[in-house]
Amino acid sequence: MRSRRSGFSWRRCNRSGSQAGIFAAAWLFAGCAPADPGSGGGEGGGAGAGGGATIEAVHFQFTEVVPGVYHAQGASDLVVGSNAGVVVNEEDVLLVDSHISPAAANALIEDLRSITDRPVRYAANTHWHFDHAHGNQVYPPDVEIISHEATRAAIAEGRSNSGRSYELFVGAIPGRIERMEATLDTLTDAEARAELEATLEAQRTYYAQLQEVVPTAPNTTLSERLTLYRGGREIQFHFFGRAHTDGDVIVYLPDDRVIITGDMLVGGLPYMGDGYVDEWVEALDRVKALDFDWIIPGHGAPYQERERIDHLQAYLQDLWDQSVALHGQGVSAEDAAARIDLTAHAENFGGIPSPGANPVAVLRIFELLDGTAN
Ligand SMILES: [Zn+2]
Repeated sequence: MRSRRSGFSWRRCNRSGSQAGIFAAAWLFAGCAPADPGSGGGEGGGAGAGGGATIEAVHFQFTEVVPGVYHAQGASDLVVGSNAGVVVNEEDVLLVDSHISPAAANALIEDLRSITDRPVRYAANTHWHFDHAHGNQVYPPDVEIISHEATRAAIAEGRSNSGRSYELFVGAIPGRIERMEATLDTLTDAEARAELEATLEAQRTYYAQLQEVVPTAPNTTLSERLTLYRGGREIQFHFFGRAHTDGDVIVYLPDDRVIITGDMLVGGLPYMGDGYVDEWVEALDRVKALDFDWIIPGHGAPYQERERIDHLQAYLQDLWDQSVALHGQGVSAEDAAARIDLTAHAENFGGIPSPGANPVAVLRIFELLDGTAN
């Protein structure tokens, strides 16, 4: 088995960014941790925190959470974006989320050979965000790509390739590269230069890979529920209501007692700029009604502590309630973001040292309240 661990860490992807860039990136990629303290983007447990063996391939680390079900996490300087869930059935494989680019999706398919020879017959997009769906184009036409119907519509309409989340992260990359280049010109320490040069090269490569994306809509949709029976395994796809986006799907493996959640749950606090914060709380109640032992989140390591769902619900509810109150007083979204106090949640989500909420999250809530959200 090939094994390689480069010195790259997600930390590098933020280190040379502006504060604004760090903020946006860290909120979108809660797995991009440790992030700046204001971001709330913490990791949940260390790599390899699943139930079974950890396999190092070229670009991915696979953790066997339960037999035949893996958590795949980027482990090289190839930027992959989200986690993937890998479900190895008797005769085929289901991949949950296709990563951030065709290069990343192809790398996962190559690396899969470290754990199975079975063909990928099924794929899924937990939601339409680019870091979960922009590898779809690499799948052959006979692969069923499953998503909620709203996710298919969003990708078909071009929302995954534009809009707030895309602009916040991808739109910030050229500026980040420029700032890294400027910083490099000022560095004299050889080790620091080498580290920044490696980061810079990874960002340039990543940006070039993004230019290859042709957003490709899923070819199989559900509105509430869809079930696959593959070999001896039942695979359920559930829509529990709007949450992180308008089309979040939870993949539930009842016999394996595993849920694969996309960004409805991540290692720390998820991005909320396309979310429905109040409905998210209700959708998580429906997730909690499922019978499972393991959570494979959209970013970060697998975990078992169900109380972490309660913690996110409490945070979301508090953020929603404070936003609604300030909105009702005629306070602007910007001022509300400065005034909202979420420090009560600091022990559950690292990095909330003082009052203040993510401005993008508060703006989104105000748009929902004003009826201007899209
Ligand atoms: Zn997302």
